[in-house]
Amino acid sequence: MNPIELRKDFPIFEEKINGHPLVYLDSAATSQKPRQVLDVLKRYYEHENSNVHRGVHTLGTRATESYEQAREKVATFIHAPSANQVVFTRGTTESLNMIAYGYARTRFQAGDEIVLPPSEHHSNLIPWQQVARATGASIKYLPLQPDGTIRLEDVEATVTEKTKLVTIAHVSNVLGTINPVKEIAEIAHRHGAIMVVDGAQSVPHMPIDVVELDCDFLAFSGHKMCGPTGIGVLYGKKELFEQMEPTYFGGEMIDVVELYESTWKEAPWKFEGGTPIIAGAIGLGAAVDYLSAIGLDAVAEHDAKLANLAMERLQAIDGIDVYGPQAGVHRGGLVTFNLRGVHPHDVATVLDTQGVAVRAGHHCAQPLMRILGVGSTARASFYLYNTEDDVEHLVEALQQAKEFFGHAIG
Ligand code: PLP
Repeated sequence: MNPIELRKDFPIFEEKINGHPLVYLDSAATSQKPRQVLDVLKRYYEHENSNVHRGVHTLGTRATESYEQAREKVATFIHAPSANQVVFTRGTTESLNMIAYGYARTRFQAGDEIVLPPSEHHSNLIPWQQVARATGASIKYLPLQPDGTIRLEDVEATVTEKTKLVTIAHVSNVLGTINPVKEIAEIAHRHGAIMVVDGAQSVPHMPIDVVELDCDFLAFSGHKMCGPTGIGVLYGKKELFEQMEPTYFGGEMIDVVELYESTWKEAPWKFEGGTPIIAGAIGLGAAVDYLSAIGLDAVAEHDAKLANLAMERLQAIDGIDVYGPQAGVHRGGLVTFNLRGVHPHDVATVLDTQGVAVRAGHHCAQPLMRILGVGSTARASFYLYNTEDDVEHLVEALQQAKEFFGHAIG
């Protein structure tokens, strides 16, 4: 894998940002899009645009074939046993909410428990709060180690026969921690609970095999994996999709509609009410082709190598606090840090003047920020188009920021 060659696929790198070449270190928020995906979107609108599953005309057939082929590609990508286990959604947030509304809210009751760590993205935390409010079920949080990792013995101690659902991010969007989802799924299943995996930060960056992980549901977003915005995936086990209720009712998802009651199609179509995100799904199919051609093992190794390098380089700068697993620990491709005494928004603004794009804020993880004892942090995240030079640019820009804010650091 050669990131310098791969960069040429991404037109955005021709942009100059404040007079500098773009150093894009915010792929955990959203990734850039290669020409191979942009071209497929253009081709779809120019040569296939039509609604799916309804028209018998040629364009309708073309669009339907491309849309369903994209589902096959995504299924192969995550090793789902059947394409019918892949539902197209708007993204991770929608996928997780669909499980909460269509599965948990109709099943859980007072006395039931939902287990998760307090480090989750709000998208994998608030839906469960809402389920708890609506059903009387309660939430139990897994203890976090100081570096943000979870100990399996704590999972064993927290999950009981009362637990109905265990959920966790495969890779933390704040700390880069890679959580042992396979082992956690095994504990959940032993107690009769289902396992929901937030794959927003793992599916784009490492090979995923849902059968091997034995998760019951997996949620992820297309825009973080070279695909368009507005498309995501909910994978589910067949029997759970059979039990789960649709969240959206209307066109496309029905079998027979009577005046006072109706029946639904089978999964995945019963979950895709209304005109689906046709171009988005086809674009995601192209993104999957693109990533598969590179190889997810190579992407994982590359991203982790850059994150480790960044970790080492940042830890060596006086005045910078780095959070999460330390250098050398197997991690996802991101590093979270603060320049002591300076608000991360100010750090990110100074970095931006040098063309370096990092994320600053609470990263949709306010409870985790409280545990870390900070209001917010800066985060540099890496993907297949980043290079070691990008890490050096980050370090140089941070040195400049440090000088700029020297008075604040004291
Ligand atoms: N979960 C994690 C771990 C994330 O990093 C994100 C996005 O940053 C989400 C969920 C939500 O993804 P989306 O905004 O695409 O729905």
